[in-house]
Amino acid sequence: MRVPFSDFSPMHGEIRNKMIDTFVKVYDANWFIGGQYCDKFEKDFARFCGTSHCIGCGNGLDALHMILLAAGIGKGDEVIVPAQTYIATALAVTYAGANPVYVDIESQYYSLDPMLVEAAITPRTKAIIPVHLYGQVGRFDEIAAIAKQHNLLLLEDAAQAHGASYKGCRAGSLGDAAGFSFYPGKNLGALGDGGAVCTNSDSIADMVRALGNYGSHKKYMHEYKGFNSRLDELQAALLDIKLDCLERWHESRSRIAQRYLAGIKNPIIQLPAVNPDSVHAWHLFAVMAKDRPRLEEHLCKHGIGYQIHYPVAMHLHQAYRDLGYHKGDFPVAERSAMQELSLPIYYGMPDDQIDYVINVLNGF
Ligand SMILES: *Cc1c(COP(=O)(O)O)cnc(C)c1O
Repeated sequence: MRVPFSDFSPMHGEIRNKMIDTFVKVYDANWFIGGQYCDKFEKDFARFCGTSHCIGCGNGLDALHMILLAAGIGKGDEVIVPAQTYIATALAVTYAGANPVYVDIESQYYSLDPMLVEAAITPRTKAIIPVHLYGQVGRFDEIAAIAKQHNLLLLEDAAQAHGASYKGCRAGSLGDAAGFSFYPGKNLGALGDGGAVCTNSDSIADMVRALGNYGSHKKYMHEYKGFNSRLDELQAALLDIKLDCLERWHESRSRIAQRYLAGIKNPIIQLPAVNPDSVHAWHLFAVMAKDRPRLEEHLCKHGIGYQIHYPVAMHLHQAYRDLGYHKGDFPVAERSAMQELSLPIYYGMPDDQIDYVINVLNGF
């Protein structure tokens, strides 16, 4: 049997007609940027996340970058980010002109380790960006308490966490502002690039909206040196259709995860820990294996797709060698880079594939 790491076809097959009808509607409306479909999606996604504002933009990186600028973070400032995440979290800080300061992740939920955050705070620290890695919110309250005590901005990188929640509140509504990505592979994915900022702050929302539109609130009046980062009408209209299905699609992912958690019984494979305070979005089902190369070989041999998220910890990337970090600085992040492996999980994954993955892992 072959099991792909991911397959969009059950999801896209189910909404094919709606998507094509919507494409025709947008096509016939002959209006492609800044219109009713983007307005409607922004309202719907804000309601979904429980925030007063949502601003569509070009991608997840731009979302985080523009939040930082809107919050006044720039040259000479420091922003705390996890040592194991996708590089976009750190790049957003760099693009804002500030310096990313890495803090190790904890080994339970792979989120920023609250015990280590305090020691990384300096007089230049302005913000902390926890990442809801793999789709789960980690020890957020503890980080929030530190941010509050030191008067730091608390931002969420929610690019992997559409629909996740923490203590009853949706990811995206937990901090001062959140960046989302609608990259096709995310739980809520466009048919191309897209992103959004969610926030309850009127001032951040106002400035982000202008920044992504060439720094302009009013046509040909430019208050800031902004960017071109907008969510177009077509992507917004298509995302709105997918948003309607998201909870049901989440149930499917969640059921697959429960079956993996109950079925995979192998002492050399460490299963993901579920935070009792969180509803996991199960963007990825990340296991840890000490002998990952051998597990990779075993999966390849049995036709099971997998991915590694991520093979190099942030501080060891060549791109960030200028920050002067060394191997050994963030042991949990480094261990995750050596041991993490993401198993197939996608909406509509057939039962026989799930059982097959469980059996192949138990036979490792
Ligand atoms: C995907 C992702 C991003 C970036 O999103 P893009 O839309 O690709 O720019 C940022 N952070 C994390 C954790 C991601 O997974």
